[in-house]
Amino acid sequence: MIQVLSNDTIQKIAAGEVIEKPSSIVKELVENSIDAGATNIVVEIKNGGLDYIEVLDNGKGIAKDEIEIAFKRHATSKLNDFNDLYNLQSLGFRGEALASIVSVSKVIISTRTNDEKLGHKVYFEDGKKIEERPIAKNIGTSIIVKDLFYNVPVRKRFLKSKTTEANSITNLMYKLAIGNYGIGITYIKDDKLIFETKEKENLNSVLTELFGVNIVDNLLEFTLSGREYKINGYISNNKYYRANRSLQYIYINGRYIESKEIRDSIETAYKAVIPNGRYPVFQIFLSINPKHIDVNIHPNKEKVQITILEEILNSIQLKTKEILNQEFSLPEIKSKD
Ligand code: ADP
Ligand code: MG
Repeated sequence: MIQVLSNDTIQKIAAGEVIEKPSSIVKELVENSIDAGATNIVVEIKNGGLDYIEVLDNGKGIAKDEIEIAFKRHATSKLNDFNDLYNLQSLGFRGEALASIVSVSKVIISTRTNDEKLGHKVYFEDGKKIEERPIAKNIGTSIIVKDLFYNVPVRKRFLKSKTTEANSITNLMYKLAIGNYGIGITYIKDDKLIFETKEKENLNSVLTELFGVNIVDNLLEFTLSGREYKINGYISNNKYYRANRSLQYIYINGRYIESKEIRDSIETAYKAVIPNGRYPVFQIFLSINPKHIDVNIHPNKEKVQITILEEILNSIQLKTKEILNQEFSLPEIKSKD
């Protein structure tokens, strides 16, 4: 017998695409905070995010009568029509995250806008509003996600161990803190402060907070620009390399992305200067005219298509070689003592 699925089932299936694992929730919530103009964000997780995830921000908040709408599918304040996708200024646009999260966990949102004297706290279970009350609150939003997948045990079984899920959140938090330097981001895991970056801090001090001064001392800053793009960032010198790629970060217009092409173009430039099987460290920020990129190709948005990729690859590789050569030919500075 052919049956049309119930809305509840449709929602849980759709949620599976957005909320693969606890770190997907953290990513969506932090991106929402950034889109809301937050300058300070606190992320706290417990037990790999399965028991507890909280994202607290000082962004613009959600007005009382829009809270429930925000948790509906395809509800977004960021996109009006399809063409907006090609001139996107925000990280979110699908209007699916909150709806997905609320369908597979218990959610408590506390939020207050500038126009309101009091904030509002709403408790959701099984995708439905259970309770709502006014509260005293600073402007901004806190979203607490509890008991992830409590109502979809099948999904829970597919999760990795709590340690693995926690590590995946920690990796994500590093990506977010680097990509959004200038925004204060605090990350607390199982009651332990892992890092805290400050509002208006520059990239160099954020990297120092995250990786320590030893690594940062071996990074070289560069900028480079073409007609339709600008690139800036840090790359490691020829004396520092690692056994894996864990400290390689690439961002396009503020969004963390995976790009084998860009990675290869940089690593190739290191071939002559670091041993085989070792990897450089880099944090690369590309600003590209949005008309040359399409972020709509992958649900978790870590892949983008760039129409002027070839040009960018060539110039990054040239620049890297140039920097490394300079670094190479620098005379040894002998200390006097
Ligand atoms: P999207 O981010 O794609 O618009 P979401 O489901 O993530 O979809 O969020 C739905 C809407 O809820 C957003 O468009 C925004 O208006 C509002 N919202 C979500 N999180 C926040 C937040 N932290 N601060 C202010 N508004 C928020
Ligand atoms: Mg969003």
